[in-house]
Amino acid sequence: MAPASFAITGEAVQGGLIIATAPRGAVGVAFDGKPIPLTPDGRFPIGLDRDAGADALLTATFADGHAAEQRIAVAPRAWRIERLDRLPKYPVPSAEFQRRRPAELAQISAARAIEGAGDGWRQHLTWPVTGRISGLFGAQRIYRGEPGAYHSGTDIARPTGTIVRAPADGTVILAADAPFTLEGHLLMIDHGQGLNSAFLHLSRIDVKVGDYVVQGQPIGAIGMTGRATGPHLHWSVTWRGSRLDPMLLAGPMNAE
Ligand SMILES: [Zn+2]
Repeated sequence: MAPASFAITGEAVQGGLIIATAPRGAVGVAFDGKPIPLTPDGRFPIGLDRDAGADALLTATFADGHAAEQRIAVAPRAWRIERLDRLPKYPVPSAEFQRRRPAELAQISAARAIEGAGDGWRQHLTWPVTGRISGLFGAQRIYRGEPGAYHSGTDIARPTGTIVRAPADGTVILAADAPFTLEGHLLMIDHGQGLNSAFLHLSRIDVKVGDYVVQGQPIGAIGMTGRATGPHLHWSVTWRGSRLDPMLLAGPMNAE
């Protein structure tokens, strides 16, 4: 296959987000074999999963039927891994949890499946709140050799009631009025092209499903609803199922 010439900006690293521009004349593009909708200007985001392999593949197809491909070398990260000689302290799931959880998970998957056409992904993401980072994306505990789930977002510790702002323009796709068992008051925003933000443990949500929010707009307030040991914001970002590191996307934090 002939080499393609995608223009790429951003650092290709596990948990990172890069922006690609399709080669001139491309009528279709795919990432690791999965088709990506083409935008009018040919630019699109690609999220690189926390566990992305060393090699990713972009493919362009052209009107005459020929295809061209381009490899992307994805740099590995050294995730914080803690090895413990004990079993996890997870509470035994209650009957109440088991009864409620399937509907909550269904709501989350339905929200993630919404394919918005918004342009928020073109913005440089800003911190929804600033403060002490109390939990790193990707951190993982291994209990007597059994890996636990890794931490899927960045935690920022601030008092209950601290305003949370939209990190980029987008459409509200989930706003949990009643707290979810784990996530509490969960808010999800679609930034377009498969890029989503989720905000967990909020004490209140100030927007509703279908609202269009702009970068910096207040969307809710920090809390400790759901499974949380203290007030903090858990902010997670996904791109078509790949989990990304919010710290890489938002960059260095300017303290307030
Ligand atoms: Zn967290």
